[in-house]
Amino acid sequence: MPENILIAIAWPYSNAEIHVGNITGSHLPGDIVARYHRLKGDNVLMVSGTDSHGTPVTLRADVEGVSVEEVYKKYHNGFIDLFQQAGISYDLFTSTHTENHFKVSQSVFLALRKNGFLFKQFSKQWYSPSADKFLPDRYVEGTCYICGFEGARSDQCDRCGNVLEPEKLINPRAKTGDGALEMRDTEHYYLDLSKLEPEVKTFLRERAAYMRDTVLGESLGKIESEGLKPRSITRDLDWGIPLPENEPGWETKKLYVWFEAVIGYLSAPIEWAQISGQKEAWREWWANPAAKQYYFIGKDNIFFHTSLWPAELMGVGGQFVEVFTGEKGVRLTLPHDVPANQFMNLEGEKISGSRNWAVWGRDFLTRFDPDALRYYLTVNMPETKDSDWDWKEFVARNNNELVATWGNLANRVLAFCYKNWDGRVPEIDPAALRPADLSLLAVIEAGFDSVGKELDAVHLRAAVGEAMRLATEVNKYLDTAAPWFEIKTDKDAAAKSVYTALKAIDSLKVLFAPFLPFTSEKLHTFFNYDTPIFGEQYVETVKDSLGEHMVLRYRLARSGAAPALAGGAREPQIKLWKPSNLRPGAALRQPGPLFKKLEESVADEERARLGK
Ligand SMILES: [Zn+2]
Repeated sequence: MPENILIAIAWPYSNAEIHVGNITGSHLPGDIVARYHRLKGDNVLMVSGTDSHGTPVTLRADVEGVSVEEVYKKYHNGFIDLFQQAGISYDLFTSTHTENHFKVSQSVFLALRKNGFLFKQFSKQWYSPSADKFLPDRYVEGTCYICGFEGARSDQCDRCGNVLEPEKLINPRAKTGDGALEMRDTEHYYLDLSKLEPEVKTFLRERAAYMRDTVLGESLGKIESEGLKPRSITRDLDWGIPLPENEPGWETKKLYVWFEAVIGYLSAPIEWAQISGQKEAWREWWANPAAKQYYFIGKDNIFFHTSLWPAELMGVGGQFVEVFTGEKGVRLTLPHDVPANQFMNLEGEKISGSRNWAVWGRDFLTRFDPDALRYYLTVNMPETKDSDWDWKEFVARNNNELVATWGNLANRVLAFCYKNWDGRVPEIDPAALRPADLSLLAVIEAGFDSVGKELDAVHLRAAVGEAMRLATEVNKYLDTAAPWFEIKTDKDAAAKSVYTALKAIDSLKVLFAPFLPFTSEKLHTFFNYDTPIFGEQYVETVKDSLGEHMVLRYRLARSGAAPALAGGAREPQIKLWKPSNLRPGAALRQPGPLFKKLEESVADEERARLGK
């Protein structure tokens, strides 16, 4: 039975470009798992989008003197370009600044209020009389009352690292220069998380068997030590999602970005369903207790995804589905797993955009191939602890593993076969294969279980390591069989060896495909198959009452050829996660190399770019 798998990936903030730490933290692991499940024939939906609201975006616009739309669209369009180049195969990559996301977020707000999980309360906030408005914490800086640092943010000091109480800040001033500031009372809505605490704890404990220790430990530990406290869900802001109903005095308030950005995991599938002409199809992942939702995020976002987002969904209860479809009593599906990653450092130091101590995704891809990036980021993924991008290691892994172990294996066997068997797979009788041939094929066949098991558990380093181990097995087999010598004395024996190796490579191509989609697809064409392994990414413009936004989409390999199915169902991707069924005598295409060997000097050249 195909499963319904939602791949939900952290929404990148629209005030900075994406670097390798972000890619390995969330986008790439999500893509690998999505591609694997598509190959298995599962019904996958992979979504994310640009987090377009929040004060870092407006602050950047204010400082640069441009409109907020300009800032968020610049980064949003850059993200879409990167994901196409790196093969991050979103079914929908959208934005939080859409009419649909506004409506879905407001519906969640209304459902929570109706169910009694919201209350109003006054708090103090810096106010600028000259600008006649409240200023968000990030807009205010001053002197830290703990360490005396003069450039402290009103809510946090970057020198001593303490979280600050904004009203205690010494000499507060607005970053935008809005005159003297004063503290004023302002009223906000709060989500009463304390009421949902028992349910959230149960939710976490039910997932203890498979959630990563780092994720479960941090989440339960925080709740047990501090409890789930009410949290404000509105802000005094110009830019963002307004409250659903105008109440006097509330016209200038917006939904707090922490509250609404996570709702994107629900609004994006709804948008995807609408623009795909299958309005109700989002329910396959959201109103379906059997659906599995995986959230790919970095460690800084764990609590939002393991505790606050599930609490929002629990508080909404059956209200949301009722409002959106009229059907009563259907609750929203809760997350299955949150395989959050730790951080990736760079050459032993923390990645820092402002110091340009970073490897930027789009810049990297102007000099190197996407699968070289994907491979290094997978073998080095910070799954259980922080990892480090090391340029020397990048070159070594590329040359010793991708090129020497896997790429040369495929290229050497295909080229040898193409030349000596007239561009065809040797015409052998599979029943006549020798014990060593059958034994290798059995080892490779078992890889669909062993690699698959690791992918099911989101152990991606182990999964790619297992695929590479299997490539080593084929190399060992060839060292012994040595068809390059065998052919001089016994062409039939050489034909069996070449057939066996080709069949193993044809299987390995699929085992590597979730990690290395570009080169697996290339290898697939050398084998001369009619249909590709994967579908296509494409860009579309969606118009709504807020204007228009660009979205990235994905078309399944087979959906173009088959008619759309009724009832919101999608034609599944053709199932390819199975051993090769290579036909003796089948025609091949002219093969070529899959990967590029890199000069040792690359490491020094790239290091020289850092920090400048
Ligand atoms: Zn301080």
